[in-house]
Amino acid sequence: MRDYLCEDTIAAIGTPVGRGAIGIVRISGNEALRILKEVFRTKSGKRKEEFEDRKLHYGLVVDEFGQPIDEVLAVYMRAPRSFTGEDVVEIHSHGGIVVVRKILREVLKRGARLAEPGEFTMRAFINGKIDLVQAEAINQLIEAKSELEAKVALAQLEGELSKKIEEVRDKLLETKAYIEAAVDFPDEEVEILERGKVKERLLEVKEEIEKLIKSYREGRLIKEGIKVAIVGRPNVGKSSLLNALLKEERAIVTEVPGTTRDVIEESITLKGIPVRLIDTAGIRETAEKVERIGIERSLEKLKEADVILFVIDGSVGFTEEDRKIGELLKNRDNAILVINKKDAGLKVRCSEVKEFKRCVEVSAKEKEGIEELAKEVMELVVLEPEAVLGGEEVVITSERHKELLERAKEAVERALRSLEEGFESPEFLSMDIDEALESLGMIVGKVTTEDMYDIIFSRFCIGK
Ligand code: GDP
Repeated sequence: MRDYLCEDTIAAIGTPVGRGAIGIVRISGNEALRILKEVFRTKSGKRKEEFEDRKLHYGLVVDEFGQPIDEVLAVYMRAPRSFTGEDVVEIHSHGGIVVVRKILREVLKRGARLAEPGEFTMRAFINGKIDLVQAEAINQLIEAKSELEAKVALAQLEGELSKKIEEVRDKLLETKAYIEAAVDFPDEEVEILERGKVKERLLEVKEEIEKLIKSYREGRLIKEGIKVAIVGRPNVGKSSLLNALLKEERAIVTEVPGTTRDVIEESITLKGIPVRLIDTAGIRETAEKVERIGIERSLEKLKEADVILFVIDGSVGFTEEDRKIGELLKNRDNAILVINKKDAGLKVRCSEVKEFKRCVEVSAKEKEGIEELAKEVMELVVLEPEAVLGGEEVVITSERHKELLERAKEAVERALRSLEEGFESPEFLSMDIDEALESLGMIVGKVTTEDMYDIIFSRFCIGK
């Protein structure tokens, strides 16, 4: 069970465990300053009684026998002007597992308790420093695998999603006020509801919620990546095309020792969105044999692809083998025909191909047409690529938010249906609106349950 009263003082290492130039031990709670005074000494070995708020103080951290552990910079941030809203102390020492752990141990000996994952953020939330969306965004920001994901998380942290949800809630609250007036004055009920433009408002709310729900598709892509399959017979240039597509786009985190190929693939990005390749080795082999049933079986794998790039060698034209693969792909909305080797002269052009809605002529070798292809891919998977990539649109990335939005939408739809059936029971209308308000409230944390906290905050790493 977590401590929701925030009565004790918590501490944890706030930096990654490992070697680094600095390591930070973070303390939050009423006892933070006392603990700092006990472990901190000036360079000449004296206790320091005054710690100016929000200033760095240079000195030593000592163990219980007064033996120095490390030279440090310590900062005290007085409540409520801190991340958690409580008294916070940070001790910046030299990085390295031993030193940082030793300092943490001293701090714990002096009465702090080791923080649980996410507990600092939870306190910030409980003390009203951030709302729930922002708390979750912190986690997403820490875990972001691509620049775009980090950007979306940062926008949520800055409160853009929360603002949007609040706007929708306000509109619902206003509508509810009209409905309640109608309940109180049954004789003028119809008039009040009409005057309040109840129906229009509910329709607007529904539309706004739907837009947010739709953005989850993009949010999921940003978070999980686009699943791309590149198919075609051997030697048409699939590997070359892949390399061309991914030219300078390398992810932030690539050089993690021991990463498997999967992880590396996950960290490849296209326009800031992670790209994941689906292994289509199967289709290549079976295509060679030109065995239809075999190809179909491997095509099963393609079902999970967001985008299928069907590559042919344009300098050769459509071969029998190409046709067989093409036959199986032509009716798929998410397939893009890529006519490669434009530099070698094309025997077949996009304008001559009617079976594919999307077609691009490229040269993987000369890197021509690649930008256009990337654009086609984006258009296929993202509803409003410019707005999303430009970070202008509010995007939801959390499954939890999506489910709550869907619940809110259903409640609004129920309310609309009761309206359609005549203004017979404004009480029911009001109940439906309450339900929508509750679901929206749960997104930002206005309405919460303790298990919800546990689920959300336990996903954090300790020290956050
Ligand atoms: P894969 O078997 O489909 O993966 O094909 P590769 O990418 O290995 O390419 C097969 C051959 O085609 C290699 O010799 C490439 O250099 C060549 N190739 C690939 N793309 C192009 C292109 O755009 N133009 C030309 N002229 N050759 C290309």
